[in-house]
Amino acid sequence: MAEISNMLNKNRMNLGEKAPLATPLVIQLETSGYCNLECSFCPCGDKEARKLFPQDIMSLETFRLFIDQCKEFPDKIKVLRFIGIGEPLVNTNIALFVKMAKESGLFERVEITTNGLLITDELAIELVNAGLDTILISLESTNEDLFYKIANRKVDLSAFKEQLKRFYSIRKNTKIYIKTTNMGTESEEEFYSEYGEFCDYIYVESVIENWPEFSAGAINGAVRYKNEEYQKAKKVCIQPFKVLCLSANGDVMPCSVDWKRVLRLGNINTEKLADIWNGKKRNELLCSLLELSKEGLLCDKCKYVTQNQPDDIDDYREEIVKRIRKQING
Ligand code: SF4
Ligand code: SF4
Repeated sequence: MAEISNMLNKNRMNLGEKAPLATPLVIQLETSGYCNLECSFCPCGDKEARKLFPQDIMSLETFRLFIDQCKEFPDKIKVLRFIGIGEPLVNTNIALFVKMAKESGLFERVEITTNGLLITDELAIELVNAGLDTILISLESTNEDLFYKIANRKVDLSAFKEQLKRFYSIRKNTKIYIKTTNMGTESEEEFYSEYGEFCDYIYVESVIENWPEFSAGAINGAVRYKNEEYQKAKKVCIQPFKVLCLSANGDVMPCSVDWKRVLRLGNINTEKLADIWNGKKRNELLCSLLELSKEGLLCDKCKYVTQNQPDDIDDYREEIVKRIRKQING
């Protein structure tokens, strides 16, 4: 039986003492801006919202460029996660990308977050052999009618379960995590007993208002995880202090919720990733967040800090601003 866990790292770095970091802890990379589902709580699932951001498939050439540019960071990146405003497995190079990332030795862990519906026996073997550390499967619902209502697609959940069982049986060192949401299941216990036999970790999270300027239809005040550290609202958003997000066309964003790319920091086809990470745009954003001067920024409309953040750097605000300014001024 799987462990009931959201797999969040319990040994978290004290970002307040360490920021600004020389190397991102996590890079989230979108291999595909397209998806095979149309979930009601996601901008990618909404026809009108989709008109507001570019949709692309990451080319092999762009991914090579990305790997090359990651070599310029002084430290190993803790996690490369294939995720984005789209379904990663739509990109047919996904197993090759995992293999290249693992062989580069630049990342401590390589993960994929996926709805799982495009997994085949062949792809499962390729991903395991490529050295994938974790696959995080988001199941939109445990009930076919509800699935259709949420994701606008008919699925055969019995066949899906059989597919996952076969993946589990050949998974070697790849960890399988399956989660659904409070919207997708009526009974957490039933979900755990139905799916917990063929994954390593399992969890039910709450749908939250994740996206600024797009309503996910979440329950008022919902917080994604049940852990205590999430329940306290923070003042400073820590995403840009530890994360970089790449879109399929090479655009770089400071956080995962900027679906319209309003805070775009650059593009790896014209600038180096390390220069973007250490650059003026990102440093200005960090200082604005630390000084709580969010007026005019997308961050002013974002609820991330109140419902989705375990780390707390609120007490270190002044110190970090001083360190950033010292770094900028040499
Ligand atoms: S599967 Fe994921 S990316 Fe696709 S529409 Fe649903 S939430 Fe969005
Ligand atoms: S506050 Fe929201 S929009 Fe601003 S950086 Fe954080 S997650 Fe992104």
